[in-house]
Amino acid sequence: MSREGFRATVLTLYPEMFPGPLGISLAGKALNEGAWSLETVQIRDFATDKHRMVDDTPAGGGAGMVMKPDVLGRAVDHVADGRPKLFMSPRGKPLTQERVRQLADGPGAIILCGRFEGVDERLIEARQFEEVSIGDYILSGGETAAIVVLDAVVRLLPGVMGNALSGETESFETGLLEHPHYTKPQEWEGRRIPDVLLSGNHGAIEKWRRAEAERLTRERRQDLWDAHGKRTKR
Ligand code: SAH
Repeated sequence: MSREGFRATVLTLYPEMFPGPLGISLAGKALNEGAWSLETVQIRDFATDKHRMVDDTPAGGGAGMVMKPDVLGRAVDHVADGRPKLFMSPRGKPLTQERVRQLADGPGAIILCGRFEGVDERLIEARQFEEVSIGDYILSGGETAAIVVLDAVVRLLPGVMGNALSGETESFETGLLEHPHYTKPQEWEGRRIPDVLLSGNHGAIEKWRRAEAERLTRERRQDLWDAHGKRTKR
């Protein structure tokens, strides 16, 4: 590998959740081979009081607890080195394949995982965290979201995916959802593989796949379809 691998640092109260699913299959193999590295930082190690407190009650009252800016600040400053800093947050900008690709092309990422009600706003501002959401639902913590981000990034790193081409025709890379897939047997429970896919006619196959991708996108994701139309009209 010509360039230094992608370096991930995860700030968390639950380092034992890592590498978790990132330790198996393609991501795990790439981790073992040094295509990327993963470091976890236990946020609690940066608490200074005798109870090692990392959270406190919300200013203004209300339920739950908020992660303390002083503790988080020290944890971040311990590892910050110019890599993008992401805070996993349902308030963040929804993660896109485009952002995933940018991250994969960069030196790595520092990822902060929230717990409880979240983190003190001043920490996000002062350390200039980019807030990233993985969807419109609430998780119990940022760790599973961080695993999602890293999974999506790592599979794009050079040499990680065996068949590099399959990455390029996938959903979102083209702005369309992907066409359906089939494999043997030719007939299963009375359902046949579409004839065109068995025809050996590569032009016809490409045309069919394209039409199916467009149909699925139109039917399921009007938002992507509209964006696609805008892009291809000019
Ligand atoms: N009170 C917050 C939710 C806190 S959930 C709110 O209503 O916005 C606790 C932590 O889980 C968050 O700090 C964040 O790090 C993580 N989290 C929850 N949902 C997430 C999502 N959809 N995307 C990314 N991170 C999420």
